[in-house]
This record gives sequence, C-alpha cells and structure tokens, in this order.
Amino acid sequence: MRTRLSICRKKARYTSEAEALEVVFAAPYPLRPYRCDRCGKFHLTSRTKGKRVPRRTPSNAPASPASCPPV
Ligand SMILES: [Zn+2]
Repeated sequence: MRTRLSICRKKARYTSEAEALEVVFAAPYPLRPYRCDRCGKFHLTSRTKGKRVPRRTPSNAPASPASCPPV
C-alpha cells in the first residue's frame, strides 16, 4: 500500500508493530496496523474490509478434546 505524504504527516506514528497493536486492541472499532513506506514506521488504518483484523484472542486455537492424550 502506498501512503501519501500528507496522510503520513497527519497520522499517529508507531515505532513498532507491537506498539501499534496495543492501540488496535484498545480501540472500540476494527483497526489494522501497516508499515508506512514514507517514514518506515507504523500507522493505523480503519480500512479492514477483506483484510484480517488482528485479535488479541486467536479464534483458531485448538478446541478439540480428542487431541488430549489418555492419562
Ligand atoms: Zn508514515
């Protein structure tokens, strides 16, 4: 994704993806961090249509009891 310089300048900047994700998880609406090719830092976008939105709790965790070994 190409970032406009005007967008880069007005957006909040995060030095790491982890830092950006903290804000994502705290926000009441879906956000997605992406690396900016202008400043090399991370910004957040609310355009998450068709994209995977990061979640704090993974939904693909194994829930099958059949994987438990017999004791
Ligand atoms: Zn930027």
